[in-house]
Amino acid sequence: MQVQLIAELSQLIADPARVLTAPAVLDRLSHDFYWYSPILKPLLVDKKADAIVQPISVDEILAIARFAGKHEIPITVRGAGTGNYGQCVPLDRGIVLDLSLMDKLEGVTADGVAVCQPGLRLATLETEARKQGWELRMYPSTLAKASVGGFLAGGSGGIGSVTHGGLRDFDNVRAFEVVTMEDEPRVVLHEGPAVHEILHAWGTNGILTRIWLALAPAVDWMQFTTAFDTYEQAFRFTQSIAVDPVWTKRLATVFEWPIPSFFAPIKQVVREDKSLALIMIAADQAEALRTAAAKAGGEVTFTGAFTGPRTQPLLSDYTWNHTTLWAMKADPAFTYLQCGFSPTECEEQFRLLRARYGDEILFHIEFMKNGEGIVIPGAIPIVRFTTAERLNDMIDYCRAIGVFVANPHVNYLEDAGRFRADNIQLLAKQKYDPRGLLNPGKMISFHKQTVS
Ligand code: FAD
Repeated sequence: MQVQLIAELSQLIADPARVLTAPAVLDRLSHDFYWYSPILKPLLVDKKADAIVQPISVDEILAIARFAGKHEIPITVRGAGTGNYGQCVPLDRGIVLDLSLMDKLEGVTADGVAVCQPGLRLATLETEARKQGWELRMYPSTLAKASVGGFLAGGSGGIGSVTHGGLRDFDNVRAFEVVTMEDEPRVVLHEGPAVHEILHAWGTNGILTRIWLALAPAVDWMQFTTAFDTYEQAFRFTQSIAVDPVWTKRLATVFEWPIPSFFAPIKQVVREDKSLALIMIAADQAEALRTAAAKAGGEVTFTGAFTGPRTQPLLSDYTWNHTTLWAMKADPAFTYLQCGFSPTECEEQFRLLRARYGDEILFHIEFMKNGEGIVIPGAIPIVRFTTAERLNDMIDYCRAIGVFVANPHVNYLEDAGRFRADNIQLLAKQKYDPRGLLNPGKMISFHKQTVS
């Protein structure tokens, strides 16, 4: 992007200091946790925007979109940059639109819907919602940093999904306003089923600027860890809690040994050679859970109240994709997959994978409810990386034995797991971004409309 264009861009927003071009800043704000993938790492390390712009209003976003459209400059939106497959890494330079300054919570409606700007941090929303008797239905383990807009556009679920499903389920996302990248950019309201046109489309077909997100009544939670001699015991116990609606839970996680050995800061809850179950349960059920765990042969190694995002230790910091981070800290040769096991055939699927790959794959289960209301063993297994061929063999084999895989080692939506078979995200891109300027390269089934 020429110097002249950057100067023009600076004129579009109230304070030119919000257009950033220092090389170190361009590098930092053009990247996320893409390095989680040994395959994506070399492909994305050198990718950079020409300028970072930090708007503070929808009018500024509209002006930037108009300018970018006129000059055919790509725009890649950034929330907090905690995505883990280079979702917000600009493949084709241009502008990174950093929305972190648009972080206002407008309020929570009487029936528990948060209305906010996209840059609002999820931890702030959780804290503010709890003050009013509500809480997030689900959040990623990156709660402290991740933004609401980035979660909707790039995430899928997390802590809370065992009860409330994913973002795409059960009207969890009520509505949002989106700035389009048409010849004349405009703000379009998406409500009800229309949210699925834009949800989890990685900012390829619209820029979320105002969000209505459903909350749940707040619960007093206890965090709970139990060690078991075997993975099977830990799995069956946690599954029995996860699937039974009698239990009010926010998290039901299982780690096979040696995964718990990676959790250096909480080694007091870990027992050598044992698998670990980690559960968030309603405080008034903690005693009953303790009894159930003992009956299942477990040793309860920790109980402690969850008092909000600042709770210490915050056990969710070891779950979902944070587990991978701890594994990579222990040994950089580890990477991961994102899987969904069959609720009925999972034990056979575990056996087949173990027989073929031995301890190249370590089981880390996150129970979650699917769109049909069935609680399934979701999983983010830790994988010892050797070659791309071996990793792809594992992905192919998982799929062959009925294990769903959202491939986190590709940088485009179609194979990364949540691309919709009804193509509504693609149709929305054709409509709202016909020139293909939003996060180019991330929706590979899209082809620019050419003027004949
Ligand atoms: P970013 O990374 O900034 O953006 C994500 C995507 O959304 C990008 O494609 C970006 O272009 C787009 N985007 C951002 N804002 C907007 C907007 N306003 N309009 C349109 N597009 C936009 N994910 C989960 O779902 N569950 C987990 O439990 C989970 N755990 C994680 C743990 C770790 C350690 C890491 C590194 C990642 C994890 N993730 C998880 C992935 C990621 O943290 C979440 O998806 C997170 O919600 C992304 O938020 P963000 O603000 O950082 O988004």
